[in-house]
Amino acid sequence: MGASTLLLTGNIDTIAQMSCNPAIGGQAKGQMVREIDALGGEMGINTDLTGIQFRLLNESKGPAVQSPRAQCDKKAYQFRLKHTLELQSNLQVFQATVTELVFTGQKVTGVRTNLDIEFSGVTVVVTTGTFLRGLMHIGQNKNEGGRLGDFSSKTLSASLIKAGVKLHRLKTGTPPRLLGRSLNFSKMEEQRGDASPTLFAFHDTRDPAGLFHVEQNGEQYIGWQPGSHQVSCWMTHTTPETAQLVRDNLHKSAMYSGEIEGVGPRYCPSIEDKFVRFADKPRHLLFLEPEGRSTNEYYVNGLSTSLPFDIQLEMVHSIPGLENAQLLRPAYAVEYDFAPPTQLYPSLESRKVENLFFAGQINGTSGYEEAASQGLIAGVNAVHKVRREEPLIIGRHEAYIGVLIDDLVTKGTNEPYRMFTSRAEYRLLFNHGSAELRLLHHAKAHSLVSSTRLARIEEKKRQTDYWITFFETHKAPAGQGTLGDVIRSSTMGGGAMPEFPVEFSSQSEALRQEVMYRVGYQGYLAREQRQIKKLSQIEKIKIPPSIDFMQVRGLRKECAIKLSATKPYTLGQASRISGVNPSDISILMVLIEASRGGAKR
Ligand SMILES: Cc1cc2nc3c(=O)[nH]c(=O)nc-3n(C[C@H](O)[C@H](O)[C@H](O)COP(=O)(O)OP(=O)(O)OC[C@H]3O[C@@H](n4cnc5c(N)ncnc54)[C@H](O)[C@@H]3O)c2cc1C
Repeated sequence: MGASTLLLTGNIDTIAQMSCNPAIGGQAKGQMVREIDALGGEMGINTDLTGIQFRLLNESKGPAVQSPRAQCDKKAYQFRLKHTLELQSNLQVFQATVTELVFTGQKVTGVRTNLDIEFSGVTVVVTTGTFLRGLMHIGQNKNEGGRLGDFSSKTLSASLIKAGVKLHRLKTGTPPRLLGRSLNFSKMEEQRGDASPTLFAFHDTRDPAGLFHVEQNGEQYIGWQPGSHQVSCWMTHTTPETAQLVRDNLHKSAMYSGEIEGVGPRYCPSIEDKFVRFADKPRHLLFLEPEGRSTNEYYVNGLSTSLPFDIQLEMVHSIPGLENAQLLRPAYAVEYDFAPPTQLYPSLESRKVENLFFAGQINGTSGYEEAASQGLIAGVNAVHKVRREEPLIIGRHEAYIGVLIDDLVTKGTNEPYRMFTSRAEYRLLFNHGSAELRLLHHAKAHSLVSSTRLARIEEKKRQTDYWITFFETHKAPAGQGTLGDVIRSSTMGGGAMPEFPVEFSSQSEALRQEVMYRVGYQGYLAREQRQIKKLSQIEKIKIPPSIDFMQVRGLRKECAIKLSATKPYTLGQASRISGVNPSDISILMVLIEASRGGAKR
């Protein structure tokens, strides 16, 4: 966006380091990466160029729930993104640990660092991940740090609390890493990547110059082609012996012995949780996933634990194929401070401290995609704030990113929040292939992609609309209705597709797939569109920030307290706060309309 920006990090070498599994995407998350790409973010292209295995999840189901996922080369992912930042004009990257924020009244005006260097800025975005008072647990063993081998950001919490920002504790965990040559893959089931990989970036509209790889040298493009030379993952499972070991030693687990006060991710449970909560399940699937091309390190997906090291070792050896496994790194749990996100406006700016923005795990989420989505929105809005422009707010009906931020700032979370398709009311409209078309107006209004790319997306949209209209208005032979009707009945399993015009068949595969989806599922998509339209009125009505809910006549006290605490941005957001009912919304609507009328008069 052309703004002069400073990025401070405790360690430049760990920029874009994936704390857990080096995998991007998956259910709902894959769609989010494509949304990030549509808004000019880097995650998709970085994944494509450093991915070592690509799979489209739910391939046999409808396009709305199909999600791309890729296993990345952990180091290449990091190095390439660091290099991307180095190439970015107007961005200065500097290594220093922020020890406190600098405030002037109720505004943030800069940061102090451990090097005694102070930086000033009009807006500040805090993205500390799991580092705020990070404390790692392996059984009874405790070490300070945001992740193994890293530092703990200790004093920043005090600075935030002093400014009135509330902090609570959460926890997350990670499995052990194993040495590949100590594993017996013949006892495991191979899982290959897709022969035809689904990539994340919209390569059809992006500038090919973005395709540099980490080994890029001047003008030369060196490295692997996206999706080529994929590697395999491997499947194995726990045994009754594993279950017994976990049950016998539960009291030694940091999580179960009361050592950890923070709440963990319900949807990414530790192996202790799995054997306790799903006690009737005889075994749990585990995936051995390579961490890169130039390392022999493997991630054991599904074996996150905070049991002591000796039990971890026994547990690993009880698993088929891992009998002689050597551990390169132990599993551990990490506890950290997070700032409940109901303290934020939908722009991700703090309601307590002006010009201070929060993004990522500090807002109570878990996952790279959730963090990247928020980073993008907070960054854009930090620039808008400087320029006194309207913030970028993506609606729940437009994208998973909209659902994520609305859920966080409206409902908050008391456990690590991750995205699921089921969180979105209009998920049929959120198929991954449509992200660029869905978010085009935002990319354009906020200048998030280059003018060349914008022109290509606009052309893609024109073509998509043209072909949809074409199929809906052209008759099929033999009285079968329109070509659209034939496509719909074929999509639902009733007969062959019509013969397509050559001009359509010669369009890109991405465009053809999008048109077929929109025509094939037209009835379902139209139903969601109608619901959106019905609710769109209250989504558009902004609540003046000056309104004092406690003074609004007729509003129930419980509702007034909740509204005062959340300070919703629109009537739509207010309606989603638990405890606010339709009659409260009607009262607010009348009040806002009256105040508008008053202003006119
Ligand atoms: C052990 C572990 C297990 C996880 N397991 C999963 C999982 O199973 N599934 C999943 O989806 N996600 C998991 N995650 C979460 C995922 O890693 C995060 O959600 C994501 O990386 C958060 O991104 P972020 O940008 O908010 O923070 P991070 O990626 O943590 O980055 C924070 C950055 O801030 C810097 N920093 C912190 N404090 C300061 C300071 N004071 N001054 C300067 N720089 C500072 C750090 O150096 C770091 O670069 C796990 C994380 C950890 C640590």
